[in-house]
Amino acid sequence: MASLPGAAFGDEPESFPQCIERLESRAISAGVSSETATEVLASAEYLQQVIELDRRQPEFTTTFADYLNRRVNEQRVTEGRELLEEHRELLDRVTRETGVPAPYLVAFWGLETNFGAYFGKMPVPSSLATLACDQRRSEFFTEQLIAALQIIDEGSIAPEQMEGSWAGAMGHVQFMPTVFLRHAVDGDGDGKRDLWNSLPDAMMSAGNFLEDLGWDGDYRWGREVLLPDEFDYELADGRRMTLEEWRELGVTDAFGNDLADEPIKASLVVPAGHRGPAFLAYGNFGVIMGWNRSEFYAIAVGHLADRIAGAGKLQNPPPEDLPALSRDNILAIQQALNDEGFDTGEPDGIMGPNTRSAIRSYQSENGLVADGYPGDTVLEALDVTL
Ligand code: CA
Repeated sequence: MASLPGAAFGDEPESFPQCIERLESRAISAGVSSETATEVLASAEYLQQVIELDRRQPEFTTTFADYLNRRVNEQRVTEGRELLEEHRELLDRVTRETGVPAPYLVAFWGLETNFGAYFGKMPVPSSLATLACDQRRSEFFTEQLIAALQIIDEGSIAPEQMEGSWAGAMGHVQFMPTVFLRHAVDGDGDGKRDLWNSLPDAMMSAGNFLEDLGWDGDYRWGREVLLPDEFDYELADGRRMTLEEWRELGVTDAFGNDLADEPIKASLVVPAGHRGPAFLAYGNFGVIMGWNRSEFYAIAVGHLADRIAGAGKLQNPPPEDLPALSRDNILAIQQALNDEGFDTGEPDGIMGPNTRSAIRSYQSENGLVADGYPGDTVLEALDVTL
């Protein structure tokens, strides 16, 4: 009789061994060899630490300045430039086969594992078994566990060497098992897809994943731009317009030059409000977000790639004096906006699209710069103290 993970038979919750047994038959019916399923799952351990990491909620949001400065700094740029030269031949081959330019490949590598310095030390089969037997995201991690067993089955890695992050991201570019199964490739021709020990496999796989996500080799990720005075920040709401349309609104590149005459659409991203840098996000920006659904991440990849390719720092660096808001601060902002008739939905302490849109409307109606960012003036006007 099948049961949901963690579900009760009467008053009896499913034990870890019972869950493992259930996962084993599920893996076998998904096509994993019974030998691998039995052997690997028999030695899987319940890791309480993984559950604690999964439950961990940061108290404060990360500001864009803090996020970017930690990920794109002089040391990382210098190392990225050296590695670009050192692995030029391999990276050029990846570019020829996938269309993804070398600096982006190195940037992903840098952001994911500090260029292979840290892959994560958790035993992936045990981590994933633990999460698959936990109620919170059981189905997602069951799928990941089965994919991990299939990777072991194909002989890409020995089970005891399958290490990664607590959530199961693996190797130089931290692929989750399902991404590994669908997109990893053998870059060095030894018949295995080894994202831990083979840099050619890892780089070719990164390029292949980005190509599968729709990378357009003819264009950049986007670029930093300058906005004219009195700019209508409500346009930074995700809408996509042609570069010509942005140009007509007075948007220039970061040096004040006309935007290139390229037949593409872009959206405007203002990650730290109107006092911070502005970016036009091209199609490849969405591709990067297919790898990791975070605008901060996508900007960090793009900017690091630019720096590795020789560009300088941002013309307009993110302001470092913006407060890191706590969940309670965001709850208070959401409550205050709801009270004033600007609907943020059910207050949840998370700065999502509904909250940004409500802030934008509030700013607009109160004669403030409608950047959707809760800066000092918004906090004061809403009477929210940090
Ligand atoms: Ca290989």
